[in-house]
Amino acid sequence: MNHEMRIHAMASGVPSSPNGSAPRCGHVDALAPVTPRSRGCTACETRGARWTALRLCLTCGWVACSDDSPHRHARAHYQETDHPVAAAVEPESTWRWCYVHERLV
Ligand SMILES: [Zn+2]
Ligand SMILES: [Zn+2]
Ligand SMILES: [Zn+2]
Repeated sequence: MNHEMRIHAMASGVPSSPNGSAPRCGHVDALAPVTPRSRGCTACETRGARWTALRLCLTCGWVACSDDSPHRHARAHYQETDHPVAAAVEPESTWRWCYVHERLV
């Protein structure tokens, strides 16, 4: 489990509940199921770097390292592609982050 990640999100003032009172994120409505393209951050693997946690792009299935990681490739993927929502890679996790709204969705 990624408790550190959840604590980090709460500490930055982001509502922790996906069904909280914040305005609804419409980006999640456009998502279809995706299959992860890799088991790790390929950008980190090619340079021998480490990551703290992984994110799954829910638009295309790209797997990249989180904002807690040194290289933040998931955020770089968003900046390159405008794919707005990433999730934790663990299938049982419901954690999802919208880069446009900068909060959990
Ligand atoms: Zn959004
Ligand atoms: Zn990476
Ligand atoms: Zn993507």
